Amino acid sequence: MIVAVASGKGGTGKTTVATSLALALGSRSQILDCDVEEPNCHILLKPEITDSYPVNLPVPSVDKEKCSLCGKCGEVCQFSAIVLIGQTVLTFPELCHGCGACSILCPERAIQEVPRRLGVIEMGFVKDVEFVQGRIRIGEAMSPPLIREVKTRINRDKVAILDAPPGASCPVITTVKNSDFVIMVTEPTPFGLNDLEIAVEAIEDLGIPMGVVINRCDIGDSDSKDYCARKGLPLLMEIPNHRKIAEGYARGVPLVESMPEYVDKFRNMSDYILNNKH
Ligand code: SF4
Ligand code: SF4
Repeated sequence: MIVAVASGKGGTGKTTVATSLALALGSRSQILDCDVEEPNCHILLKPEITDSYPVNLPVPSVDKEKCSLCGKCGEVCQFSAIVLIGQTVLTFPELCHGCGACSILCPERAIQEVPRRLGVIEMGFVKDVEFVQGRIRIGEAMSPPLIREVKTRINRDKVAILDAPPGASCPVITTVKNSDFVIMVTEPTPFGLNDLEIAVEAIEDLGIPMGVVINRCDIGDSDSKDYCARKGLPLLMEIPNHRKIAEGYARGVPLVESMPEYVDKFRNMSDYILNNKH
C-alpha cells in the first residue's frame, strides 16, 4: 500500500504525521522523503544511511558537424529545451525532461545524450523502518525526475509512506500519483483552509481517496472541519497544540516518541486507510 502525506502549504505538520505513522507501524512500513528540495524526515528520524547513489538526467548535446539544421528536434520537444534558431541548434539543459525524443528522431544521429546531475538518493534504516530520501543538487529546479527515482525504491511489501513536497504543483502531483491514499495535513486557520482547498482540488483530479489530519486543532476556527464535512472528506485525526509535542518537535523528537499514546492513534489511522484505499 502506498500512502502519500501532503499539505497545501509548508509548516502544517506534514512531516510530523509522516514520520510518526512510519514509526507507529515499525517494520511494516517504509518512509520515502519525496520533498527533495527540503528533505527533513531525517531530522526527526535520524536514519543510519547505508547506501547512496547519484541521479543524472540525460540531456542532448548536438554535434554541429553532423547536424543538417532540419529542425526536427525542436519540433518534437514539448519543453522548448532544444530549438533551431537560424543556423544554430540551441539547447537549454535546465528545461530538458530527459525524454530522449530529440535524439531518437534526429535523422543525422547528431544528438548525443550527456548526463546532467540532478541530485542524490540516500537509503538506510531507522530501527526496523526502511528509509529513502532524495536530495536535489543546490541550484537545480527539475525535481520531478528525482522524485520519480525516489519512487522506484518503493517496497510493495510494506506500507510505503511518501512525504510529499508542500503545495499543489508538479512535484506534489508527481509524488502522489499512483498512491492508494492521500493524507492531507492542515491547520484550522484561514490560510490552512485556503491551501487545503487548492491541494484537494488538484488531487481530486487523480481520483485518489483522501482524508484529513488537522494539526494544532485547538487554535483557529472550525471552518476546515466544516469544509471536510461538506466535501465528504474523512477527518482522520486531530492533533492538539500540546506543549509536550511542541517541545519534542523543537528538540527533533517525533510525535509518537514525545507522546507514546499516539502510537495506537496512528495505527488505527493506518487500519482505516487500509480499509478505504483505492
Ligand atoms: S534533428 Fe538533428 S539534424 Fe535536425 S536540427 Fe536537430 S540536431 Fe540537427
Ligand atoms: S530529451 Fe526530450 S525534453 Fe530534452 S530536449 Fe530532447 S525532446 Fe526536449
